[in-house]
Amino acid sequence: MTKKEVILTKLENIVGQDFVSNKPEDLFIYSQDSGTSLPRPLDYVIMPRTVEQVQSIVRLANEEKIPIVPMGGGMTLSGLTIPVKGGIVVDMKRMDRIIKINEMSRYALIEAGVTSGKLKSYLQRKFPNLQASIPDAPPSITIAGNVLIHGSGFLSQKYGDHGDTINGLEVVLPNGELARLGSCAVSDFWFTRGPIPDLIGLFVSSFGTLGIATKLSIKLYPKPKLRDLVVGVFDDINAIPDLVLNLTHSELVEDILLAIQDKPNWMKGHIFALVFINGNTEEELNRKNEALKKIYQGVKGRQMKLPPRMKDFFLEKPIFYSTTADFRKGGGFEYVGAMLPLKKIPEALTKGSLISSKHGIIPTMGCRVIGKGHNILFFISYAFNRADPKDIQNARNALEDTNKAVLDMGGIPWKAELNAQKLILDKLDDKYKKLFKSIRSSLDPNGIMNPGNWEIG
Ligand SMILES: Cc1cc2nc3c(=O)[nH]c(=O)nc-3n(C[C@H](O)[C@H](O)[C@H](O)COP(=O)(O)OP(=O)(O)OC[C@H]3O[C@@H](n4cnc5c(N)ncnc54)[C@H](O)[C@@H]3O)c2cc1C
Repeated sequence: MTKKEVILTKLENIVGQDFVSNKPEDLFIYSQDSGTSLPRPLDYVIMPRTVEQVQSIVRLANEEKIPIVPMGGGMTLSGLTIPVKGGIVVDMKRMDRIIKINEMSRYALIEAGVTSGKLKSYLQRKFPNLQASIPDAPPSITIAGNVLIHGSGFLSQKYGDHGDTINGLEVVLPNGELARLGSCAVSDFWFTRGPIPDLIGLFVSSFGTLGIATKLSIKLYPKPKLRDLVVGVFDDINAIPDLVLNLTHSELVEDILLAIQDKPNWMKGHIFALVFINGNTEEELNRKNEALKKIYQGVKGRQMKLPPRMKDFFLEKPIFYSTTADFRKGGGFEYVGAMLPLKKIPEALTKGSLISSKHGIIPTMGCRVIGKGHNILFFISYAFNRADPKDIQNARNALEDTNKAVLDMGGIPWKAELNAQKLILDKLDDKYKKLFKSIRSSLDPNGIMNPGNWEIG
C-alpha cells in the first residue's frame, strides 16, 4: 500500500467509506470556489458526523503531519477553504444538529454544520417569536463559517457583527483535545462569553488556523410581527455619514443598507438607502415611516416609493446580493468586503468607482451599517465570466487595487484572501504578529491547521 492509501484507510476507519474520498472527481469541487482564487489541489475530503470523529481526524493529521482545512459552506468567495498546502478538507455539513433553543436566555446551541437556511426555517416553524441575524448569503452557508469570519446580517446594525453574537464555542484544538469556551466551560448554560477570560475572540477571523469549532451558541432576538422597507434617495455622497448618524441615533431602524450602482441607468448618480423598520402594529410602522421621512429631508434626501411587488421581494428575500451577484451570467462573483470607519465612506465610494471604471467593471457598491455605525461594511462587487481567464485576472487586479485603497484609508479588508492577508500583515503591528505567532505555534506545533493562512514569517 502507498502512504496515501494507508492514510485513506485510516480516515475510512474513522468515518466510514462513504464519507471520505481522494477521488479526483470529488476533490475537484473543493479545490476552488466561485471567487477569483486560483484552484489549489487537496489530498482528501472527509465529512465527520461526531465530535469524536473530528478529534480522531485531527490526531491522525498530527501523526502524519498533514494539513487540515475546516470548511462550512465554502462560500466566502475568497478562497479561505481551498487548501494552500494540500491535505484534508474537513467538510462539517453532516454535523448539522440543532441541539437546543433556549427561549428564556434567547440562544441557539447548534453543531458547526448547521446552515443559515436550516436554522431560519427551524425557528420559523418552532419558535416564530425568535430570530437569528442571518447574512444575505445563500442559505447553504453555515452559521459557524459566518460568525467565525466576523460576518454580518440584517440585525447587525442593532446587535453588532456576528462575531459578537457568539455566546459559547466548543473547539477541537490542533492537538485533538476538546475545549469549551464561554460560560459553557463552567455551566450547562451556553448563555454568555464572560465573566471569565474571553478566549472566543481568538477563534474569530483566524480562518480555522487555531482549531475546528464543533458546537456553538449564538444569540437569538425577539421577532416583531411586522417589517417594512423605507427607501431613501440621495444625490450627495458626502451626506452619507450624517444620514447614518441620524438614522442610528434615532433607534428606529433594524437594518441599513446603502446601494450605489451605475446600472440600470436610473440608479446612476444616486445613493439608495434601504432602511428596514419593524414593529408590532401598522400604527408603529407608520410612525417610524414618518420619522424617517424627516431624517431623509434633513440630509437633502427624499423617500422613494417602491412598487409593492419589488418591496415584497426585498422584504421576503433578504438575499438582495445573492440575486444580483451573477448579473453578468458568467458564474463568477467576488466582492471585496472591507470594514471602514463611517467618516471614510464617501472617499471609499469615490475610489471604488474609479477602481471599477479603471478595470472596465460597472461600479456596483454598497455598505451595511454595523452596530449603530461603529463600523461600516463596505463592499464592491466584481462579477466576472469564469470561462474567461482574462476576465478573472481583471477582477483579481481590481480586488488588489481595492484592498490597497482600503488599507490606505485606515480600513481593513474583510474575510481577506491570501493576497489581502499579506497586505494586512505588512501593516500589522510587530507585537501583534509576535503574539499571534506564539499562540498559534504553542497550540499547533506541527503547523497542521490551515497552513498558508495568516502565515507570519
Ligand atoms: C451572494 C452572496 C452574498 C453574501 N452576503 C453576505 C452577507 O450579507 N453577510 C456576510 O457576512 N457574508 C456574506 N457573504 C459571504 C459568505 O458567504 C458568508 O459570510 C458565509 O457565511 C460564510 O460561511 P461558510 O459556511 O460558507 O464559511 P466557509 O467559507 O466554509 O468558511 C469560512 C472560514 O471559516 C473557517 N471555518 C468554517 N467552519 C469552521 C469550523 N467549524 N471551525 C473552524 N473554522 C471554520 C473556514 O476554514 C474559513 O476560513 C455572501 C456571499 C455571497 C456569495
